[in-house]
Amino acid sequence: MILDGIRTRDQIKAECLPRAQAVYKHTRRPPGLAVILVGSNPASQVYVRNKTKTAGEIGIYTETLSPDPSISTDDLLRLIRILNLRSEIDGILVQLPLPDHIDAQKILLAVAPEKDVDGFHPYNMGLLTTGRAGMRPCTPAGVIEILKRNDIPIAGRNAVVVGRSTIVGKPMALLLLEENATVTVCHSKTADLPGVCRTADILVAAIGRPAMVTADFIRPGAVVVDVGINSITDPQQAVEIFGADNLATFEKRGSQLVGDVHPGDMARLASAYTPVPGGVGPLTIAMLMRNTIEAAERRTGLC
Ligand code: NDP
Repeated sequence: MILDGIRTRDQIKAECLPRAQAVYKHTRRPPGLAVILVGSNPASQVYVRNKTKTAGEIGIYTETLSPDPSISTDDLLRLIRILNLRSEIDGILVQLPLPDHIDAQKILLAVAPEKDVDGFHPYNMGLLTTGRAGMRPCTPAGVIEILKRNDIPIAGRNAVVVGRSTIVGKPMALLLLEENATVTVCHSKTADLPGVCRTADILVAAIGRPAMVTADFIRPGAVVVDVGINSITDPQQAVEIFGADNLATFEKRGSQLVGDVHPGDMARLASAYTPVPGGVGPLTIAMLMRNTIEAAERRTGLC
């Protein structure tokens, strides 16, 4: 079974629409999202454009702030403090990565936890760790959504998460634990990584290495969630991963997206899997929208 992230995204978006309207009805203003984009990273610009476009479709007001790339950490902190105080802004998103001269940790810490729609603030991570309701990080929360909406049981299953980043791996492990899976977290120092991965009923790869998870990592019948988004530009690598038949398409485009799991091995061995593209990627933005609406509902007393 292919776990279709686009279908799930559309379901979540459709659920968000009446909730955004209810916020408007209650407060005479739409839910508001401020996006801070520093610098001209092309991928970040695409992500921000997609986020604001999706927000517009749902009826969320967005404001993109693009300060001069040379802005200091202190000046960016001041900008965030102003957004924290603005009543019509429910969510604040700082698009990562920030330029090297900015202290990203300080910036993320400055976002008011109730407006932290990315769910990265230590306060929200603490709520997650202690099993309390709060803003959940979008990508791992999206993974839980797609599993549940496709009736994939989580409770009692062995889940293996490869990757322990604050953005994906760690919160993913905690959310699976919250759903009563038995969770193992792997990283670059894990011994016998393929062997540990083969114990998984649910295998989540969040590594950032193209097609690293191959057949020897996947127990036949396992559910595989591929969080990775990697762009490859080497034709040799493209042939190794996608086969020679794909070369003409690859050469026309000049690059190709690939996840952290080998697509052919995943399709052959998994009982259900998220493709790349079209799997986890679309869910991240949908969950950001849901978090923004939830923030608005909480801040306006609707829930
Ligand atoms: P990070 O680089 O922050 O973390 C990568 C993790 O993978 C680390 O914990 C690292 O281990 C582990 N790792 C790296 N190499 C190996 C290895 N050889 N064996 C085992 N573990 C390894 O990445 P992110 O978590 O931010 O992102 C992971 C992937 O997910 C990327 O491809 C990214 O593009 C994608 N992503 C996709 C999103 C979406 O919307 N679909 C959103 C966010 C990310 P260690 O800690 O030991 O270094």
